[in-house]
Amino acid sequence: MSSPSVIIVGSGLVGAATALALHQVGVKSTMYDQVNPMEVIMRGDAIEFGESGGAVSIQAGGLRVLRTLGLLEECFAAGTPLPYVTWAKIDGSKPIVGDSKVGNKKAGETDPALQVPLQILRSTLHTILMRACHKVGIKTLVGKKLLDVKQEDDTVTATFADGTTATGNLLIGADGIHSTTRRKVFGEDLVAKYMGEMGHIGVVNIKEHNITIKETEKTAFFIDRDKKYLAATFQVSDDIAAVNITTFGDAESQDQSYRPVTDLPKHAGRLADLLKSLGTPPHLEQMMRCSFRLSSYGIYDLPDLESYHKGRVILIGDAAHGMVPSAGIGLLTGLEDVGTLRACSNNFLTKRLEQGFGIVLQNPRRSWYDCCKSIA
Ligand SMILES: Cc1cc2nc3c(=O)[nH]c(=O)nc-3n(C[C@H](O)[C@H](O)[C@H](O)COP(=O)(O)OP(=O)(O)OC[C@H]3O[C@@H](n4cnc5c(N)ncnc54)[C@H](O)[C@@H]3O)c2cc1C
Repeated sequence: MSSPSVIIVGSGLVGAATALALHQVGVKSTMYDQVNPMEVIMRGDAIEFGESGGAVSIQAGGLRVLRTLGLLEECFAAGTPLPYVTWAKIDGSKPIVGDSKVGNKKAGETDPALQVPLQILRSTLHTILMRACHKVGIKTLVGKKLLDVKQEDDTVTATFADGTTATGNLLIGADGIHSTTRRKVFGEDLVAKYMGEMGHIGVVNIKEHNITIKETEKTAFFIDRDKKYLAATFQVSDDIAAVNITTFGDAESQDQSYRPVTDLPKHAGRLADLLKSLGTPPHLEQMMRCSFRLSSYGIYDLPDLESYHKGRVILIGDAAHGMVPSAGIGLLTGLEDVGTLRACSNNFLTKRLEQGFGIVLQNPRRSWYDCCKSIA
């Protein structure tokens, strides 16, 4: 049987992980991304491919996928393990410290190598995935903004804004929350609606600013139940950490998810003042004030889909399902999608490729999304 060719729209974290997983099972794919590095460099705005966002925490389900892709050790070397998670009052008092190993064991994870989660900068993980794709010869064509998708009996064709097209046996839409694939194939009205800003995340060099984070507070949440504020710290390496503050209904809110703010001193200053006024432990205020990058993140309402598969087109990651936009939950879910596809590869390689993918995404994954949605 000749190898089918797959078009992956979007080379974010999930697109890149999908391409690697397909490569492992002998399926050739090419990624197409709207980002045009020349344009964004000229604008000084290299967001999707560059230094952006904050930290992502990856639990056992995602770690298992990274291990299958052969990247687990490299990821741990570039990030940090999270032996504890702490929940405390806003001033750091009355901490409850959870031992990740014990918690994950209780939750049913039997593999000791996967019981301690990984915390890593989103941008660092993206670099690792893209480098791994490059190493095995997976191509990413940039400046390819998807405009339309047309399906024939045996093929699917993507049309891009630069007038070019690409034809393959299967198209995987990994083009994120504002997915064009979803709109063009599943329905024009299936757009993600911006519901407002959820918070801000700052990234800081703690070594440079002599900030010490306790071992138990590498991931720590500080809560003010009455005022409804949540602050958090996420250490990602010996020298880098992120600080997070929920700012629902911020007057300066706009749909700029994960785009670093342009007036850093102004926003870092006002958010540091907010942390101080809430009475958080002093290092949170200092972390925010000294941030070298600060991004806001929003929350979106995404219409449900009956199925993530239509003919020769499949949606994956944020393009398929909405998730709570923090702590890497969107990524974790997307990585689990990739792992599910990879694990079922034997089935779909011997049957019809697109049917196999569709069955996988429609059945076992669907119940997980429904479960997350009801919790949210
Ligand atoms: C810049 C950025 C920073 C983030 N930071 C964090 C964070 O700090 N913490 C956290 O928990 N989550 C963060 N997220 C969200 C998290 O990365 C995602 O939830 C998760 O990784 C799922 O990713 P994805 O690959 O499905 O989508 P995305 O990461 O959004 O990737 C989608 C890709 O598709 C491309 N694309 C979109 N439309 C088109 C089109 N029409 N044609 C071609 N290509 C297209 C985009 O350029 C992008 O590269 C961030 C997302 C982004 C985009």
